[in-house]
Amino acid sequence: MRLREIIKTFKPYEWEPSNEQLSRKLGIPKEEILRFDMNTMPFHPRELMEKFARIAVELPVNEYPDPTYSELREAVAKYLNIDMDNLMVTVGADEALDIIAKTFIDPGTEALVSSPTYSMYRVTIEALGGKIRQILRREDFSDDMDSLIGESKKTIVRAIFLCSPNNPTGNTIQREEAVRLLNETDCAVIVDESYAEFSGETLVNLTEDYENLIIIRTFSKAFSLAGVRVGYVVANKNTIKLLNAMRPPNSVSVISLALAKLALENVDYMVKGVREVISERERLQRELSLLPNVKVYPSKANFILVRFSGVSASTVYDRLLREGIVVRKLSGPMLENCLRITVRLRSDNDRLIRTLKRILS
Ligand code: PMP
Repeated sequence: MRLREIIKTFKPYEWEPSNEQLSRKLGIPKEEILRFDMNTMPFHPRELMEKFARIAVELPVNEYPDPTYSELREAVAKYLNIDMDNLMVTVGADEALDIIAKTFIDPGTEALVSSPTYSMYRVTIEALGGKIRQILRREDFSDDMDSLIGESKKTIVRAIFLCSPNNPTGNTIQREEAVRLLNETDCAVIVDESYAEFSGETLVNLTEDYENLIIIRTFSKAFSLAGVRVGYVVANKNTIKLLNAMRPPNSVSVISLALAKLALENVDYMVKGVREVISERERLQRELSLLPNVKVYPSKANFILVRFSGVSASTVYDRLLREGIVVRKLSGPMLENCLRITVRLRSDNDRLIRTLKRILS
């Protein structure tokens, strides 16, 4: 076949094996596998699904969705206290990344990525023939704004990708630092706030003043709806218009739109879940830091970054896996010997701690 040149060397997104694959490989029933690698919520939103079941029969699934997704945009606008014209709805945060890349990246142009971070930024940019320049974070994982500002002066650079709270390091962007960057650059500044509900911090209200600020949000994390695949972008009206030109008209399903809207009509459910996860995060952090040779980094998200010494993270990963516990393996600069652990239910976290204690002793 006459493939694109890029396909031959392309490094795709990597994830951990699925429950089915693991079950076959390890000889453990699927139900016994515990996943600490997905950064999703540990609760199934049963009450929400029961409410949804009542409205589901009436949904006009024989028709395409309203291509402007106006009902959901209205609901999100109310949730964030902004105007619906500042919003674009997408298939999860990942489709937002795709649309943003299509809007800014020409082959051969560059994007700055404050690294280490979520690897889909690289995948999306490189898929369009763009190049990424990784700007390493400072020792405490804060963004190196001076370098980002300096590098962004090059005309080849089109966009800057930031993440707050950052996956996998868990820290947030300082607002003054973001403002400093926005004042200094005319590149698009993308801030991925997929985990913002856990930190309570957001840069949403800066979008009025900065046309180049593009914020990405999702229903996959705090709202317990990862399987539903809905996300959205917040930006200045003019920027939303530009992004909309690259957006497919009907990618979000009638079913997903209805579920996301229902979730916003029941925000209390999300707030309660977030509160529970935060309290469990604090407990898990304390427990992890009592283990020998484990450094626990602070986190404002629903996951925790840990670094091992005296034992390799990949040994710990393998030993956990053998017991049906999946954590996130990490690689690349600044993440040597690190693993990322999603906060789950108390009993599951206890099983993880017990197993880690055994492995590390
Ligand atoms: N951004 C970050 C930082 C993430 O960690 C993830 C999920 N792993 C995504 C975006 C993708 O989220 P979604 O499910 O909304 O596509």
